[in-house]
Amino acid sequence: MRILHLFLLAGAAFGPALAAADFDLIIGGGLVYDGTGAAPRRADVAVKGGTITRIGSLAGATAIRRIDATGLAVAPGFIDVHAHLEAIRELPAAESALRQGVTLALGGPDGGGPWPFGSYLATVEKLPLGLNVAYLAGHNSIRRAVMKLVDRAPTAAELAQMEHMVEQSMRDGAFGISTGLKYLPGTFAKIDEIIALSRIAARHGGIYTSHLREEGLGLLPAVEEAIEIGRQAHLPVVLTHHKVIGQPSWGASVKTLALVDAARARGQDVMIDQYPYTASYTGISVLIPSWALAGGSAEFKARAADPTTSARLKAEIKEAILTDRGAGDISRIQFSRVTWQPALEGRTLRDWCVERGLAPTPDHGADLVIEAELAGGAGCIFHAIDDADVERIMRHPQTMIASDGRLSRPGDAMPHPRAYGTFPRVLGHYVREKKVLTLETAIHKMTQLPALRLGLKDRGVIAAGANADLVIFDPATVRDRSTFTAPHQYPEGIPFVIVNGTVVIDGGNLTSARVGRVLRHTSTAAK
Ligand SMILES: [Zn+2]
Repeated sequence: MRILHLFLLAGAAFGPALAAADFDLIIGGGLVYDGTGAAPRRADVAVKGGTITRIGSLAGATAIRRIDATGLAVAPGFIDVHAHLEAIRELPAAESALRQGVTLALGGPDGGGPWPFGSYLATVEKLPLGLNVAYLAGHNSIRRAVMKLVDRAPTAAELAQMEHMVEQSMRDGAFGISTGLKYLPGTFAKIDEIIALSRIAARHGGIYTSHLREEGLGLLPAVEEAIEIGRQAHLPVVLTHHKVIGQPSWGASVKTLALVDAARARGQDVMIDQYPYTASYTGISVLIPSWALAGGSAEFKARAADPTTSARLKAEIKEAILTDRGAGDISRIQFSRVTWQPALEGRTLRDWCVERGLAPTPDHGADLVIEAELAGGAGCIFHAIDDADVERIMRHPQTMIASDGRLSRPGDAMPHPRAYGTFPRVLGHYVREKKVLTLETAIHKMTQLPALRLGLKDRGVIAAGANADLVIFDPATVRDRSTFTAPHQYPEGIPFVIVNGTVVIDGGNLTSARVGRVLRHTSTAAK
């Protein structure tokens, strides 16, 4: 490398005939939002060898490629700290994320991190990746591997084994640990188990990110639990996809944000991420109490068939429809992925009731929820969030934008539109139309804020020496097009996305470049 470097210098000294281009890429004339939240400035941005090398006026400089960004915004590539990358082997280009301007996605949320961690990353590393990826260790995956789906505390030996698995994951490059305390088997874990495992992640400099135990009536104690875990385990906390579910709880973000502020005032590091929609997506089993699901599908079937337990089961599902994820109305529950009856995809629980000749009541809805779970479950969209809570959470200075979206492919099921539209929706709907955030603040929440959360100082900013992950978009036209009824639509107004210095979305088209990398967290613990 040293010889090559001297050669180039010599070339420059002897004149342009011998000189290679000064840069690989110059993005000229754009309005540069550097990711720090600072006001934009007009500048050219030069990239060489995968790194941003110059920012300023570069009219006289030469480059192999020049992009005219006049009238466009130039920003660091977006960092998605809650990404469902489970389909990365089938969709390594990650086009649904890339076209939103996402250049780094953090997988393994909700307790679902890969196990064994190191070998999984080695597999992903061999894929032709469209963007950069990183991963969290997952409490649910680890607990399931050790204890299956049982509803009890771990023995000392089981806890030691889980601690070892977190340790191994952190040494293999996990950025922290995720939990999904609403889901099996994480829901069976008490706080002391999570604290013990989080302490291991803390020792390596990792974060704790949690799908909270409850997001409706039990939201406040669930936020308190997450903060307490961070306090006792000494690690940063992220309340992920933070939201308030179900009408009886709407407005509670005033209180949850106050809890975050109070913890921060005490010196604790607590942050939030959020997707910009008034509906969530998860399995229909979210309406089913965890005691009924414990052990697995055979046990659930037995409980649903038993007259005593089935009555209790149905009553609790009905309660969840009325006060929690069902938002009081079975037309707010929309099927998204139904492998055993794809015709239901896009339609609601109310539609299904009517089709079956049943009165569309929460009672009959509860019956069909049980039927759906027995048939193999279903992915559903739950229209149960109030936009006032979305906006309030979005404005909080510690809130990052993250999709919670699955890698998606046109035509496959009816995914939540966040998979295609999260980042452009914030830029178009919440910034340009509703003016909830300034553009520079929104970009900060998509770039430097998550980069620093992950300990990545050379990403999420446009600065000399930073990694050249960049997005170029039109602030006047950028918008999401994906909807709840027609989700498979890429956004508009994002003509260029650059990953590690290479143009991967070029004039609105996906190129054949696959230059994404697997990023590994560097443990801060002694080896
Ligand atoms: Zn989740």
